[in-house]
Amino acid sequence: MRVGNLRGRLVVLTDATHAVDVERASEGGFVSDPQAVFERWDEFLTWVSSASLGPGQVFSPRDLGPPVPRPRQVFVIGMNYWKEGDEAVTTTRHPVVFTKFVTAITGPYAQVENPGGEVDWEVELVLVVGRGAYRVHEEDGWDYLAGVTVGLDLGERTIQREGPVAHYSLGKSFPGFGPIGPSLVTVPELADRDNLELTCFVNGKETQRGSTAQMLFSVPRLVSSLSTVTPLLPGDIVFTGTPSGGDKRTAKGRFLSIGDEVVGDISGIGELRIFIVEPRLPTARNL
Ligand code: ZN
Repeated sequence: MRVGNLRGRLVVLTDATHAVDVERASEGGFVSDPQAVFERWDEFLTWVSSASLGPGQVFSPRDLGPPVPRPRQVFVIGMNYWKEGDEAVTTTRHPVVFTKFVTAITGPYAQVENPGGEVDWEVELVLVVGRGAYRVHEEDGWDYLAGVTVGLDLGERTIQREGPVAHYSLGKSFPGFGPIGPSLVTVPELADRDNLELTCFVNGKETQRGSTAQMLFSVPRLVSSLSTVTPLLPGDIVFTGTPSGGDKRTAKGRFLSIGDEVVGDISGIGELRIFIVEPRLPTARNL
């Protein structure tokens, strides 16, 4: 099943261009807020399995918003794909973890303002928590997920490098620096959940390619490891790290600039397509 956010309303996507509005189809049994469904995820699965949803209404993919618009916690994993020299990371109990503050979350076709500096980009598998998880065993890790989606982890590297320790969380949290989508795909929908191919393109040129099979901390291990410290709450998300391509690229000084189009794709899930645009005037704004 594919679950989405269509102009702020919870929908089930019946194919690439058709969607069923959940509040209407359930006659109010589930509210329209896409974030609220994670509090009742098991009930929702039961309802969907017995409901006759029909073909749904035609929609434009450009009207999709983030499938998880307001997670309470956003985890971002660093250095999680094997490359030479990274073996030391696998011997630690926990992966490298930081956050994106939630106002960074945006949709799959977002226009992202360029704040200046060195804006870097990484395609990542994003996990969506469907059941509260605390101290779960690795072999049960997948069972706590509502599903997965595609994410781009954008970061501004001059802020990240400032100060006596790295400012990862701040540098990765400008508005729009966490696009996710196009929809949440439930785990049974994935043909090979531990081997998903990720690709990333900027202006049509491939910048990254890899598979989640190359993760140092696998998906269930991430769920287990994070939850030994921090309870994972329904509707939380986890950016799981990025395959190689990032280091070489930034060593050459290639960063995103106004006019760039970034496409992130994961096999069996779908693609995001974001656009880097001019910043609006840097004045205080009411949100
Ligand atoms: Zn990342």
